[in-house]
Amino acid sequence: MKLLEERILKDGNVLGKDILKVDSFLTHQVDYSLMREIGRTFSQHFKEAGITKVVTIEASGIAPALYVAEQLDVPMIFAKKAKNITMNEGILTAEVYSFTKQVTSTVSIAGKFLSPEDHVLIIDDFLANGQAAKGLIEIIQQAGASVEAVGIVIEKSFQKGRELLENAGQTVVSLARVERFEDGKVIFKEADI
Ligand code: 5GP
Repeated sequence: MKLLEERILKDGNVLGKDILKVDSFLTHQVDYSLMREIGRTFSQHFKEAGITKVVTIEASGIAPALYVAEQLDVPMIFAKKAKNITMNEGILTAEVYSFTKQVTSTVSIAGKFLSPEDHVLIIDDFLANGQAAKGLIEIIQQAGASVEAVGIVIEKSFQKGRELLENAGQTVVSLARVERFEDGKVIFKEADI
């Protein structure tokens, strides 16, 4: 997605050897017009796929996922990271190791929001080693629902996430694919859409 790549080049900052900071438009402050384009681009691609739910993980997946859900006209569900006493029935959980926070946490979705009839599109802001997406897939499968694809805003292709997900039989569709960082600059490879 050209517009996204241009925005990453303009406003993204490379931190260390493997982190891209995009907090001015995606992970902290959010540019709704860019999110709307992200929503349109994914929904164009998946409009014939029979998607019934969009699933993401809090917090940074929520903004793009909501715009995708709006365009596909289906509900968006975000997995929660903290335990919540109001979630007291039929909780589906998975353990997820966070690449940026370097801690393992239990993420959960209330089972009542997913059923075996659901065809789910997972959306997340980043794909690094694939642990967030793997946890979401586990939860969706516990509900008996099927995962149609994993849609990623920014994939770091030099990390293992895509390989892990594809080896598990999943389809990964990324809007921007970072091949490498070179002297603090982002070098892309061809994106999926
Ligand atoms: P994974 O689970 O694929 O290893 O990592 C994906 C998750 O870690 C995403 O949900 C995202 O929140 C976070 N993440 C991974 N890499 C980056 C990065 O380079 N920049 C930012 N801002 N978040 C990242």
